[in-house]
Amino acid sequence: MGAGHRNILIAGAGATGLAAAIELARRGFRPRIIDSDVGPVPLSESRALGINARTLTLLSPSRAADAIQQEAYRIDRFRVRAGKKVLFEIDPSKIDGRFPAIQVLAQGRTERLLLGKLSDYEVEPEWQTVLESVTGTMDRPHVTLRRADGSREEIDLDILIGADGAHSIVRKAAGIGFPGEEIEEAFYLADYRYPQPIDPRYVEISLFNPGIVGRIPVSGDSVRYLSTLPDFESRIAHPVPGGELVWAANFRIHFRHVARMSKGNVFLAGDAAHIHSPAGARGMNLGIEDACWLAYLISEGREQDYADLRMPAVKTVLKQTYGLTRLVTMHHPVATGLRNFFAPLLIRVPGFARRFLRSVAGYDTPPPVWIDGAQ
Ligand SMILES: Cc1cc2nc3c(=O)[nH]c(=O)nc-3n(C[C@H](O)[C@H](O)[C@H](O)COP(=O)(O)OP(=O)(O)OC[C@H]3O[C@@H](n4cnc5c(N)ncnc54)[C@H](O)[C@@H]3O)c2cc1C
Repeated sequence: MGAGHRNILIAGAGATGLAAAIELARRGFRPRIIDSDVGPVPLSESRALGINARTLTLLSPSRAADAIQQEAYRIDRFRVRAGKKVLFEIDPSKIDGRFPAIQVLAQGRTERLLLGKLSDYEVEPEWQTVLESVTGTMDRPHVTLRRADGSREEIDLDILIGADGAHSIVRKAAGIGFPGEEIEEAFYLADYRYPQPIDPRYVEISLFNPGIVGRIPVSGDSVRYLSTLPDFESRIAHPVPGGELVWAANFRIHFRHVARMSKGNVFLAGDAAHIHSPAGARGMNLGIEDACWLAYLISEGREQDYADLRMPAVKTVLKQTYGLTRLVTMHHPVATGLRNFFAPLLIRVPGFARRFLRSVAGYDTPPPVWIDGAQ
């Protein structure tokens, strides 16, 4: 059977679903990709900002990485401070390989660039199309789609990819649980646009007792402030006056992952399979990695290996983000004092900064075996 003859549906055209569609299409498959929304995430409501080196490696064969590299902002300083004192600074571009450990691009732009690449392969998402139900056996899933005009379509599939986010219908229909925990602290974010250019090349985390305020560039004139403190806006050091608040949100952090990322020929990828805190900027990157591995395994006829191959990577990333989250949400003054004392010492321990940067780069999960020389 030729590659294009397998009937594949991708539910969800977020970053994960789009990456799956690109990687399948460039290998000769003709997947359908649907999304309940009217289009990609609005530019002003971009959750993910950090794109790591592993993602750019994975998106190199399709050249989507080139498009992202052209627009992304290079970060040359990651700074952690406590009050006026700089605890340490690290340069994310000081890592072996083709790409800096991390760059910044608003998720809305990343998704639009992925959409552009997908249309080069003549695949377009079907917007305003909801995956309503999944029935039949999970070996040969039968799905019902509903369009905006109310019309319905029933299809039998060879493969169903659930890239439909944290509340995944696919996951629920497959009867796969989503165990984990919600942590006590809420996180708050505020994106400001300024009337003059700002310096987009550095990320800064300011530690308070307790709490943090993170400063992450969104673009050449916009900054995101991310905090664990409800009153954090009074602690923002705006780079220039006249900033306009363009997006504010607060959210609670969950650490959850499925026990198994597939059932029969139903596969879960991205937030449908795992969610965690934004500390470390890993969520979207991990979803894109799932998608690229799944497409590769489908092309090799080895998709039944997907769940076993991906789970160690998911566990590694959840463990890393959990540790980082606990570091920034510490309350006890003794604990925060010890953290602030040891952080600058630890970063000078030989090999520590390199290991830290490799995990920021996403190089702490198995490299893609289909890309020559990938780390
Ligand atoms: C504040 C914040 C900051 C973050 N920063 C980073 C970062 O810097 N780097 C990083 O890598 N990650 C980051 N993340 C995480 C990242 O945003 C998510 O991991 C990522 O969006 C997951 O992508 P996805 O495609 O798997 O899911 P989603 O982006 O949730 O996409 C799922 C898609 O499925 C569609 N859908 C849902 N149900 C159906 C249905 N029944 N039928 C059809 N379509 C459906 C939805 O409309 C949606 O388009 C951050 C998250 C937050 C909250």
